[in-house]
Amino acid sequence: MTRTRFAPSLTGHLHIGNLRSALFAYLLAKHDDGEFILRIEDTNSSKILISPEELINMLLNTFQLTYDEGPKKERDSTEYIQSKRLDIYKSYAEKLLKKGEAYYCFCDKKTLNAKRMKASEEKQNFLYEDPCRIIGIEEAKNRVLAGESYTIRQKMPRSGQISFHDLVYGDITFDNSTLEDQILIKSDGFPTYNFANVIDDALMDITHVTRGCEYLSSMPKYLLLYEALNFPRPEFVHLPLIKNKEKGNLTKTNKDDDLIDLLNQGFLPCAILNYIALLGWNPRTNQEFFTLQELINEFDISKITKRPCCYDIKKLVWFNKHYISKMNDQEYINFTRPYLENVYNLKDKTEEWINNLLLLFKKHLHFGSEIALVSNLFFREIIVLDETCISYLRSDELIPSILKTFKEEIETCSDWNLQNIEELLKRVELKTNSTKEKTYRTIRIVVTGLNYGRELSKILFLLEQQTIIKRVENSIGMY
Ligand code: GLU
Repeated sequence: MTRTRFAPSLTGHLHIGNLRSALFAYLLAKHDDGEFILRIEDTNSSKILISPEELINMLLNTFQLTYDEGPKKERDSTEYIQSKRLDIYKSYAEKLLKKGEAYYCFCDKKTLNAKRMKASEEKQNFLYEDPCRIIGIEEAKNRVLAGESYTIRQKMPRSGQISFHDLVYGDITFDNSTLEDQILIKSDGFPTYNFANVIDDALMDITHVTRGCEYLSSMPKYLLLYEALNFPRPEFVHLPLIKNKEKGNLTKTNKDDDLIDLLNQGFLPCAILNYIALLGWNPRTNQEFFTLQELINEFDISKITKRPCCYDIKKLVWFNKHYISKMNDQEYINFTRPYLENVYNLKDKTEEWINNLLLLFKKHLHFGSEIALVSNLFFREIIVLDETCISYLRSDELIPSILKTFKEEIETCSDWNLQNIEELLKRVELKTNSTKEKTYRTIRIVVTGLNYGRELSKILFLLEQQTIIKRVENSIGMY
C-alpha cells in the first residue's frame, strides 16, 4: 500500500512550500487509496516557531488534508512527534557504534566552525578530517562517562559513488569523497534531521518520500544511512523548486507566501490549494479549477514537472477571486462581514444595508480584507478628488448643470429606492441634454471620487441622499 508522509519542522512560518509538500504527499497517497501520515520534526528545539497544535489545526480544519496516522491518531503505540522518539534514535546510533560504522566525536564546535569560516573566506573547499574517527571505542566511552561533551558521527566512505533513481528527476549519482562524516546525534542528545528522518521513514513504512528538491544534495547522506541501517529504500519523489516571481527563491523569510498571513487577508483555503496544486504539477489539460477530490483523481507522479516553478501572488489572487465569486450569497456575507466589521463601526447600519454593501462587490473582490478598502467611500462624509477627476469636471460646460440638476432631483425624491434612482438619473440626462455616459461619469466622480466602479444606482442607494447632496455641493463649490 502506498504510504506517504508530511514531515514539517516547526522552525519557520508555514508557507506555500510547506503546504505544497503536504498536498502532493496527500494526493499521491489518496490517488492510490493509500495512507497519509503526519510526523512532526521538532528536534531543532531552539528554533521552534509554531506549535504542533497550530499546524495540525491548519492541516485538518483549514485545508482538510486529513491524515490517517499522526499525533492524536496513533497506530499501535507509535509516537509521531520526534522529540518523543529520542530513545529510538539513540538505539540506532548505538547499533552503528557497535558495528564500528559510527564514532563518538569530541571536537569542539567553535574550533570547527572557525576552521570552516576560514576556509570559506579563503574560498577553499572544506572537508573535515575528524581526528576522533580513530579513537578506540573503549577510550571514547570512558570520555563520555567522564562527562565530556560529544556528538555521534557516521563514518562516511572516502571513495566510490552512490546512486539512486528519483521518480521525477531520474537516475542521479554522487561522489562519496565529497562527504564529511555526518552527525547523527547532536551534543544536546537530539538526533539530526537526516538521521531521524531516515529512521522514521523506514519504521513508519513510508513507501514514497516526497520533498522539495532543495533536499536533493543531501540524498547521498540519506542513502548511506539506509545502507548502514539495513533499511530498504523507499521511492523518492523530489518536487521542483518554487521560485518567487519578484524575489528569487522562496525562503522562510519571505512574507507574501506566509499561509497565516494569506488566510488573515482573506485568501480561501480552496483557492490556495488549487493554486499550489499547479506549482509543479501539470494536468496536461486546459482544466485550471480543481476540487480536492478532482485533484486526487487526476494526480499522477508522471505529471510532476522538473523545472522550477514560479509562485505568483497575482495568479493566486486570480484563483481567489474566482472562488469568492462562486460562493453562495450567505457564505459570501459570512466570509466578508468580519473584514468590514474589523475596520468600520456598523452599529447604526441595518443588516439589509450591510448585506447589500457586501454583495455589491461579490463578483469583484480579490480577497476578503479588500472589502474594507473598496467600501471606504461609504463610510466618509466627503470625497477628496484627485487631479484627473478635477480636470474631467472642468472639461465640459455641461457638467455644472448636470450636477445642479442632479442635486435638485435628489432633494425632491421622496422615496429613495433603486427604481426611483434609475429614473432620476435618466431625467438628469434628458433635462441637461447630456449623454448617459457623461451623466453617469460626472455623478460617479463627484460621489465616489473614482472613474469606474460598481453599478452607480446601487452605490447611490447605499449612500443615502444627505451624503450625496453634501458631496455634490462640495464639488459645485469648485465652479
Ligand atoms: N522536516 C523537513 C522540512 O520541514 C522535512 C523534509 C522532508 O520531507 O523530508 O523541511
